[in-house]
Amino acid sequence: MVGKIPGDLGNYVPYAPEPVRYGPGVHRPGIGEAHVLVMDSKKLSLGRRSIRRLRNLLATKAVVLCYHQVATVDSDPCRIAVPARLLEEHLQAIRGVGRPIALSELVSGLREGRVPHRAVAVTFDDGHAEMLHTVKPLLERYDIPATAFLINDALGQTHEFWWDQLARALLGPGRVPQTLSLSIGGRRFDRDLGEAAEYGAEQWERDRGWHMDDAQIPGPRQALFKELHPLLGGLSIHEREPVLEQLRRWAGAPNDVRPGYGVLTREEAARLAEGGLVDIGGHTVTHPMLPPLSPAQHQSEIAGGKAALEGLIGRTISQFAYPYGWHSDETIWAVKEAGFLGASSLIPVPLRRGWDAYRIPRLCAGPWTGDQLSQRLRAWFAGR
Ligand SMILES: [Zn+2]
Repeated sequence: MVGKIPGDLGNYVPYAPEPVRYGPGVHRPGIGEAHVLVMDSKKLSLGRRSIRRLRNLLATKAVVLCYHQVATVDSDPCRIAVPARLLEEHLQAIRGVGRPIALSELVSGLREGRVPHRAVAVTFDDGHAEMLHTVKPLLERYDIPATAFLINDALGQTHEFWWDQLARALLGPGRVPQTLSLSIGGRRFDRDLGEAAEYGAEQWERDRGWHMDDAQIPGPRQALFKELHPLLGGLSIHEREPVLEQLRRWAGAPNDVRPGYGVLTREEAARLAEGGLVDIGGHTVTHPMLPPLSPAQHQSEIAGGKAALEGLIGRTISQFAYPYGWHSDETIWAVKEAGFLGASSLIPVPLRRGWDAYRIPRLCAGPWTGDQLSQRLRAWFAGR
């Protein structure tokens, strides 16, 4: 067991369709340098004053916040949606309590051994369509810079992300066939939903706040979601689509895009980059789980994605975000080789001086009020 990280991290669950397997050389999200240092302080049984001095040395300096969808959604099993009205409250809180900073600036300071005190960098993953017409005007209103990590092949897509399609097929109200038979990567997957094939509006209303990392699973539909999520996440985009098609057909779910679930077009992504307040970052070509991929696949996903985005916006990009936060030594090497100056993970702790610029920790923002975010920011800055 690793040492406890100081600070109120109790409610943080990284957005992570994380695989259950962690092979050799793979960095498990959540294990950061801070753990080791705190554990050492305990081992050494230092006096109270020395511990206070050590705490000060380790005191939190900066926070990198991670957002995904900015929309009001029916259910959010991956806990990645923040309504626009709450995002606005968050931006006010960041202005009031912290010092907004561009991620690229924070990373260059980190590389030089400096982390500005109470700095807050804001990031948005996956390039949701609301970035241009909802998020950017809010960022401009509060003059807060942000980085948008874009997936090249998702730009302009006319369907929803796979995790949203999975939730739509399984977690919406209504009736589905009692038995589900899928072929996933050549293997059969058969499940019987029993009475949960029928899912009334009342039950749905009761369960819609469920998150897949909650200890309690409300019923068979949520259990099935939780079982299928890592299986689909581990497939390539070409292997996954036939499974999604089977799921859609089984559930009678359309393959269109619901309001709030769309992705920027290429033209919109280029417009998002205009004006200098929103920085574009790389997030691969197809959003795979990178560690299992070959060196050549790493290169085409990371360096290929960088070159294509730079061609789109007409300037160099310096920051990268690992899909699902997942990375290995091989992944970090490929990111450096591609010329990125920093890479963001989903290690859910604040940023301290001395962190590796290629494993930037990020805290996923939830649907909190502005006051709730202010309280959390103060606690993180104070190292509590
Ligand atoms: Zn992503």
